[in-house]
Amino acid sequence: MDVIKIKENDILQLKKKHPCGSSLFKAVRVGSDVRVICQGCGRDLTLPREKLEKSIKKIIGNGND
Ligand SMILES: [Zn+2]
Repeated sequence: MDVIKIKENDILQLKKKHPCGSSLFKAVRVGSDVRVICQGCGRDLTLPREKLEKSIKKIIGNGND
């Protein structure tokens, strides 16, 4: 698998769904921890980057490069 690089404003599709049913999250702050906002319910969560990278199914860029 390719190395995953999360960038701010990326939309991440995770393998696990949020309890609200959405699996899309937007990265809003990337550091050793990554803050993401659920695109289904708008709740934000902070996860260790290493753990988050492992749970990404796919990164959907938003054309912000
Ligand atoms: Zn949610």
